[in-house]
Amino acid sequence: MAETNILSGKVVSDAVYAALEDRIKALSDNHSAVPGLAAVIIGEDPASEVYVRNKTRRFRNMNLHSETIRLPEETSQEELLSTIRTLNHDPVFHGILVQLPLPKHIDTDVVINAIIPEKDVDGFHPENLGRLTAGKPRFIPCTPKGIMRILEHSHIDPSGKHAVVLGRSNIVGRPMSILLSQKQAYSNATTTICHSGTSDLRVITKQADILVAALGAPEMIDDSYIKEDVIIIDVGINRVPDDSEKGYKLVGDVNFDSVQGIAQSITPVPGGVGPMTIAMLVENTVEAAESLYA
Ligand code: NDP
Repeated sequence: MAETNILSGKVVSDAVYAALEDRIKALSDNHSAVPGLAAVIIGEDPASEVYVRNKTRRFRNMNLHSETIRLPEETSQEELLSTIRTLNHDPVFHGILVQLPLPKHIDTDVVINAIIPEKDVDGFHPENLGRLTAGKPRFIPCTPKGIMRILEHSHIDPSGKHAVVLGRSNIVGRPMSILLSQKQAYSNATTTICHSGTSDLRVITKQADILVAALGAPEMIDDSYIKEDVIIIDVGINRVPDDSEKGYKLVGDVNFDSVQGIAQSITPVPGGVGPMTIAMLVENTVEAAESLYA
């Protein structure tokens, strides 16, 4: 049984950061500009806290500017929109992210639409999603962009392959399917997108040469869903209770042990897609700063 190759997002993200150094220096030398990110977090969701901390820590490590704006759970939608309008006009910030999910009394679409597309470094604004769909992207959502980068870095060319994407969210599954089907190098796959309305998922997943799991279903995808030599991208980040001090461990949407020796390659959780999401956020923010001087 051949060993399954691990696709490390850590290794690829380190290469991304190294490649960004010159661009950051050029912004500083030529324009005295430091790419800046405003991260807005509402409420006290522990997972959101970790995500925002990891993102802003990376900005600090790269000597970039980042500020976290913390708002209480009971913040009204209008107050949040007012904060975003202020950030839209603040030249210190080239990128704005609002950490999701938002409290139930706030309409996520209204909030995303309020960020000006030029600072929407998450790539969730309808204008940016529309541009991506039309093949003329501005900011590509960080997680799918990071996955494409892992494939390219690993010399896995999706062209001519059958890529199956599990999940159709606007932040992962849908943009992922668009990127994989674009007519360009390191894309050009025949792409199928599955969701909770898909009947007999296994019939489709067993056809996949590349399988992207973005379900939010802990370890759901096991050996019964795959064919031999499939390349698996496990996007899922799920907290499941355990006996550790933290009281939980992180698992993906794929049962990692079950697919060993069958899959050709797999991204681990943690250490796979997660680090790439952060790297692409940094890259998008650098791009946002550069676009001011293009
Ligand atoms: P959403 O909940 O928004 O979307 C999940 C999608 O999976 C939906 O389209 C849903 O179908 C589909 N789905 C769920 N269960 C099943 C099932 N049993 N069978 C078929 N389809 C199913 O999640 P996200 O896209 O935001 O995130 C997905 C996962 O990725 C989560 O674990 C999240 O934590 C993780 N994530 C990881 C990131 C990273 O950096 N690694 C970044 C972002 C997310 P339907 O549309 O019909 O409801």
